[in-house]
Amino acid sequence: MKKIIIATGNAGKVKEFREIFDGLDIDIELTCLADHFTPLPNIIENGSTFYENAKIKADWVYEHTNGIWSLADDSGLEVDALHGAPGVISAIYAGDKATSADNNAKLLRELADVPPILRSARFKCVLVLKTGPDTYHTAEGTCSGKIISEAAGDKGFGYDPLFIPHGFAQTFAQISSEDKNRISHRGIAIRNLCANPVMMGHRLKVL
Ligand code: IMP
Repeated sequence: MKKIIIATGNAGKVKEFREIFDGLDIDIELTCLADHFTPLPNIIENGSTFYENAKIKADWVYEHTNGIWSLADDSGLEVDALHGAPGVISAIYAGDKATSADNNAKLLRELADVPPILRSARFKCVLVLKTGPDTYHTAEGTCSGKIISEAAGDKGFGYDPLFIPHGFAQTFAQISSEDKNRISHRGIAIRNLCANPVMMGHRLKVL
């Protein structure tokens, strides 16, 4: 069975990758950084776009595992009233050692004077799958919605308690993981990637 390493140490992302791939019925063994490295490596993400950072992570993992297929996700939240911030620095918005609670608190402070109608935002996800020394496959997904003024819910991770996706009345941290994975930036990007012939070759059955 083909093995893929998900190039992230973010447990929330790993959980979602597993759930989404499970639903796709693809004959691929998913492993994560924690299965291969102790302690987790600190991969320096100094790119200026989601794509550049995803490629940095995919390259690092591919090189340090003797060429196991590596799948990197770089993702983040873009808020219109903040001109696209936090964007590529979503994970460290409130500082290098910031927790999700720190980042969420900073986001609420920055938006304190912004009325509900101007709180539009979107999550973006760029995936880079590296399958050979110079072979990359990419896919993207976006999920639009708005930022509320008080955290709600305890599911998910990151900015989930502050984000209500279009068409829903509750945050990503309140809705079921099935609903989140169906509409999320990551769910869309993974399904787009799986439509790529390199992945189709491992499909057990066409859904
Ligand atoms: P990365 O690991 O450098 O790609 O950082 C992604 C960051 O964006 C995470 O640490 C979260 O802060 C945020 N993020 C990305 N996807 C999600 C999501 O699905 N829910 C909530 N926050 C997310």
